[in-house]
Amino acid sequence: MTNRERLYLFDTTLRDGAQTAGVDFSVEDKRLIATLLDQLGLDYVEGGYPGANPTDTSFFSERPSLQRAKFTAFGMTKRAGRSASNDPGLAPLLDAPVDAICLVAKSWDFHVKVALGVSNEENLESIADSVKAVAARGREPLIDCEHFFDGYKANPAYAVSCVKTALEAGARWAVLCDTNGGTLPHEVGRIVGELIAQGVPGERLGIHAHNDTEQAVANSLAAVNAGVRQIQGTLNGLGERCGNANLVSLIPTLLLKPEFADRFEIGVSLEGLTGITHVSRTLDEVLNRSPNRYAPYVGESAFASKAGIHVSALLKDPRTYEHVPPESVGNTRRISVSDQAGKSNIVARLEAAGLHVDPQDERIGRLLEVVKEREFLRLFL
Ligand SMILES: [Zn+2]
Repeated sequence: MTNRERLYLFDTTLRDGAQTAGVDFSVEDKRLIATLLDQLGLDYVEGGYPGANPTDTSFFSERPSLQRAKFTAFGMTKRAGRSASNDPGLAPLLDAPVDAICLVAKSWDFHVKVALGVSNEENLESIADSVKAVAARGREPLIDCEHFFDGYKANPAYAVSCVKTALEAGARWAVLCDTNGGTLPHEVGRIVGELIAQGVPGERLGIHAHNDTEQAVANSLAAVNAGVRQIQGTLNGLGERCGNANLVSLIPTLLLKPEFADRFEIGVSLEGLTGITHVSRTLDEVLNRSPNRYAPYVGESAFASKAGIHVSALLKDPRTYEHVPPESVGNTRRISVSDQAGKSNIVARLEAAGLHVDPQDERIGRLLEVVKEREFLRLFL
């Protein structure tokens, strides 16, 4: 029926998102959010790092009831000089009741030398052995290639060999991470293209973008256009420093913009998409934060119109000033009445309240005058 390619979505709200300053999930919060993500249609829900802190250890002691999403644990590849079966960091991951295990590995030779203090070859061995240990326990292995883009710029051959080693050892996915978040979309497109040209299959590559130049969403789309088939991100763009790629912006774009919707199928349905505003706001509630009213698609202002000239056209046909219908993402159109308004705003608000009035009624004009006068006076109060 469809010859669209499958694009996979990997959520890391409960792991990378938990690194956000001021964010502190309880075990109950994690269970609630995991369930919401599963219902929305995410393919992977990364729950945290079992063994790293009491919350994550407790969360992973009992599987949340997920219908579709693969429950995923995060951790690090084994240390050099130890066998995977004898690595205390890896043991709690291998024992966790999960479907998949995502291990972060160094792919920048500078980090291998300075942070790990091991040889490039030892790091490749750690990647291969760790992937094999995960597969041997019947879990799906993923490798997050940390600093892949910076590593590629410094030593392309080594960064590529980290990806190839992971895939040859049996990783389902090698995820290209822009860990510092400083890479620009055209660089992501070029580097992913070069990697695929060296024989690495795009359907086994993912992208993990950070938002330090406010382009995590753009970088994710650039990577998809260049051939990767998994996107990692978080709800509301939570994440360390400036955050991760915002899945709440990416999902509507993938489903509603023909450039992506015609080419790709994702686990979220158009019906599921109507719940995304609710999911975004529920996360804010859990975190006791007020929602960002300017958030694309789901913010209170995303479909708000104030100017009278916009409103009169909107009422004739919403497509005049809306790039997508607000109901497609579970949001609503808002028409404000202010000193910037015209008669159309007043008529629209009265209609919304169930009052049918003739737009030519002279009382509409008088009402508008009162509003404008009060707005003006308010400036001086
Ligand atoms: Zn990250």
